[in-house]
Order: sequence, then structure tokens, then C-alpha cells
Amino acid sequence: MAFSQKLDTWFEDFGRELPWRGIDDPYRIWLSEIILQQTRIEQGRDYYLRFVEAFPTVADLAAASEEQVLRLWQGLGYYSRARNLHAAAIYIMNECGGVFPSTYEGILRMKGVGRYTAAAIASFAFRLPHPVIDGNVYRFVSRLFGIATPIATDAAYREFEALLLKKIDRRRPDRFNAALMDFGSLQCKPQPDCTACPFADECVALRTGRVDMLPVKAPKAKPKDRWFYYFDLRWKEDGVEHTLVEQREGKDIWRGLYQFPLLETAEELDEKQLRKEAKRFAQETFHLSPFTFHLSSPFLHQLTHRTIHALFLRAELASRPLLLPEKTRVVTTGEIKNIPVSRLIDRYLQSL
Ligand code: SF4
Repeated sequence: MAFSQKLDTWFEDFGRELPWRGIDDPYRIWLSEIILQQTRIEQGRDYYLRFVEAFPTVADLAAASEEQVLRLWQGLGYYSRARNLHAAAIYIMNECGGVFPSTYEGILRMKGVGRYTAAAIASFAFRLPHPVIDGNVYRFVSRLFGIATPIATDAAYREFEALLLKKIDRRRPDRFNAALMDFGSLQCKPQPDCTACPFADECVALRTGRVDMLPVKAPKAKPKDRWFYYFDLRWKEDGVEHTLVEQREGKDIWRGLYQFPLLETAEELDEKQLRKEAKRFAQETFHLSPFTFHLSSPFLHQLTHRTIHALFLRAELASRPLLLPEKTRVVTTGEIKNIPVSRLIDRYLQSL
């Protein structure tokens, strides 16, 4: 039986039913694909439904503010995905006459859309024969055909794409891709049950005892450590508690999200150093003196390329600080719940 037929038979029995399956609306397919990058399906499903409800069309998404989009995205991480989503929606409205691009190349021009996402949208929405290649597909295909090229490299992508282009079902590339993704995710798992696999009789990795060795992964760079000291300054005005937040800028992580004023250091500070640095920072930044604070327990926050070591310095002030830097914003502590913040800040707020 041909590869695609075998895959299709398996998909008939074991394929997943998902809210973005069986539809051909490119906007919703795009939304689901962006949400599902680096996100588990169970978690992504809720976010997808929330986004579709808040922004049923690409025009609705484009008309929203970036802050609204980031707020809805909160908790998913990798916030550049949300910013790109918003920018691409505006691009579609302004540059494409409100019509979603319908070619692979046109889809690739959208901000935040790479080859994988473009292939998914092109095949699911427009039935164009572009194979999807994600981590699960790499695993399955590398084992089945015994390919030892380190995955997630440009060379590997081209090699796997060329191979799958010969296998793809050109009449139903949408179904072929959905089956390929599900097979890699549900059957050819990191620890697969090969006795239940319809490809067992032809799988090179199984025959040569290399199931545990494939796919070959390129070595990862060690995450960089960073030390964040946040200033949670609170005071009351007319009986209402207020605090200060600032919006992250530049090309760094969490751009566009809000945080408490931050002192970042190149190395970890011991308590004595921290008290000295905090005093200097509070004096220079807010004209606060003297400055006493309560120190939170440490928060460790792991991102793909960064390990954040965070401490929160909470101070009860008698009144609003004398100096408010331009980038800071005064909010009530109740309002923080309605502005987009990183998962780290959210974890701290939840801990209070
Ligand atoms: S036999 Fe095992 S390793 Fe090979 S494709 Fe099937 S599940 Fe994957």
C-alpha cells in the first residue's frame, strides 16, 4: 500500500477532532497554527476559541489594539507571536484589500509565518500540495526512512520537504498533512509502541534498532541566566491602592507587556548588595529615600533561551513617588489584572 494510503487508513481510525479541522477559513486556520506553535493542543484549544470569539474575522483582529491582543494572549508565552499576528492582520487589511493571501508565497509574506505555517494554511485552506514539517513529523519521517540529518536545520527541512513532496496526496493535501501531524504526535511518539504501527514492516529505525536514536537533534545552546529585581511600589490615594508599571520596549523578551519597574543586573546580587543597589535605584529613578522593602521568595522562570532569576521588592509608600519616569504608568492594583503582563509577573501577582 502506498505511504499516503496507509497513513490515511490510520487517520480514519485515530485522527483527532479539533475545532480548526475540517474548515477552510484561512484566517481561523492561521490563528490555530500560530497559537499551537510551542503550545500543547489542550491549552491552545481554549485560546483559539477565545480568539475566535473576540475576533471572528481578520478585520476584527486588525481593528483591535495591540494591548487587547496581548491581553488575550497572556499566559501563552512567546509574545512575539501575538504581536506578529496583529501586524499581519493589519497587513492583510491594508495591503491585500482585506483578502487573505491564497498562495504559499503570498502567505509566507505575512509577519510571523514561516515555512511550516505557510504549508499548513496553504494545504488546509486552499488544498495546495505543501507538506507540513513540525517536530513530530521530523521524528516519524526520520525513523521511517532512517534519515540521520540533524533536524530543525535548513538542510534537513529541504531534505524532508523533497521527500514528502513525492509522497503527498495531491488530491487531498489537507487530509494528508493532518494525518502526518497526528501520526507523528500520537503513534510515532518519543517512546512509540511499534507493535501497533502500520509502518512497522518497512520502518528503517525499527529494523536497524535506532528508534531511540532518531531523530538526530542539533545541540542546543545553553540558556543564558538573567537577574531581574522588580519594584512593586504601592501607596494609597483616596483609599485606593496604586502602583507603578512600565511597558517593555526594544528587541528584548516580552516587548509590549507591562511590568513593575525593573532593575536588571549582569550577576546575582547577595542581600547586602541588593539593598545597596535597590537604594541607589529607588533614589535615582523615583527620588525615594529612605527606602525599605519586603523581599519576595525567589522566582525562577525558564524561557527557551533564557533563565530568569527574579525577586520582587515590595514597598508600602506614604504617597506617590516624587519622580515618575516618562515610561512609567500609574495604575490601581485592581487595574493590573486588565493589562498584559508576562507569565512571571502574573505568577507573582497570584502568589500575593
Ligand atoms: S515502527 Fe515505530 S518508530 Fe517506526 S514509524 Fe512506526 S512507531 Fe515510528
